Amino acid sequence: MRNARGSLVRPVPLPTGASTPVVTPLSPSVVYASETPDALDDQYEGRTHGYTYAREGHPNADVVAARLDTMEGARDGLVVGSGMAAVTAALLGLLRAGDHVIGGNQLYGRSLRMMAEDLPRLGIATSLADPGDVEAVRAAIRPETRMILVEVVSNPGLRVADVPGLAALAQSHDILLAVDNTFTTPRAYRPFEAGADIVIHSLTKLLSGHSDVMLGYVAARDPELARRLRVFAVTLGLSPSPFDCWLAERGMLSFDLRFDRAQATAVRLADHLAGLAGVRRVIYPTRDDHPDKALAARLLQGQGCNMVSFELEGGRAAANAFTRAAEGLSFAPTLGDVGTTLSHPASSSHRALSPEDRMALGLSEGFFRVSVGLEDPETLCAVFSQAIDAAVAGG
Ligand SMILES: *Cc1c(COP(=O)(O)O)cnc(C)c1O
Repeated sequence: MRNARGSLVRPVPLPTGASTPVVTPLSPSVVYASETPDALDDQYEGRTHGYTYAREGHPNADVVAARLDTMEGARDGLVVGSGMAAVTAALLGLLRAGDHVIGGNQLYGRSLRMMAEDLPRLGIATSLADPGDVEAVRAAIRPETRMILVEVVSNPGLRVADVPGLAALAQSHDILLAVDNTFTTPRAYRPFEAGADIVIHSLTKLLSGHSDVMLGYVAARDPELARRLRVFAVTLGLSPSPFDCWLAERGMLSFDLRFDRAQATAVRLADHLAGLAGVRRVIYPTRDDHPDKALAARLLQGQGCNMVSFELEGGRAAANAFTRAAEGLSFAPTLGDVGTTLSHPASSSHRALSPEDRMALGLSEGFFRVSVGLEDPETLCAVFSQAIDAAVAGG
């Protein structure tokens, strides 16, 4: 098409053919053109499907959301720009000033911070309770309580929440139960089947799985709540990047295999660590010495997670010697990567706590959380043996 000054920039007709790509195309377009105002009306009124502006939705986000919806048994789930964007949507998108929310007492650090600072600033009262103890949560309920937010397996203590018990409690008090399923993933646990009202994920972790994507997901059982979550996320601009969604979909194609492998290695590594000199204790939900073993067995039915925590003897000096000697393992504050990563709560996620408060959570200077990756299990155990030997010698 030409005018007096030269060619128009857009639109250029796309080449089409009788075949279709097997890989989802990446659609970075921020805007989508419609044929007529009538056609746009049809779209906004839901008579046809289409896109308008990427903050309001785009094909790559919808593809990822549809995959996760299937895995979680959800409808109309929403992909957002990070796990914290998903937590934000669930809390700020559904609660109002005057409401009260109960959080698990070992929530992800930023979720705890939202409970401690941001919600109270906005007039939403919060309290924390042990999510493995339904009676403790019951005791925290007030007339204004509108939501309970828990994680199935907590970080970094790997304690287990009694999700079915909390679901029954929440239902009998007309309270919403929101479950952050990031650690367990739908491969090990499906909170909607246990009666949860809202499911949250950080897709940044195992589901995408390669530490190159930051995304979140939130879904509600009730269609009206799902609609409110979507409107809120679009208004606040919690939108995901098409490229991140494209990468996330690619990662999700191998998720089941990665999860099964990492989980099996985590079980093996936990047992291996328990036999090493210099290791004071090992935490893994399905081990015989875990305080929530019975609950974990009932909830996860043989599944677990890819996370193992353990405590080294010898304090900070041993911890430094350990990370230095742990060849090939990244000392990095994330989880769910293809490679095994180590996190040290005392110097990272829990550094703001006083040493006394950290000790109350069992987080000594020797405490490490391991996110198990896809390495050969024997090789991985050997790396831990050698690095812990070095820690014992140097610490
Ligand atoms: C990482 C994480 C989040 C936050 O996700 P981001 O994608 O980092 O914003 C929330 N909950 C849990 C359990 C997490 O591990």
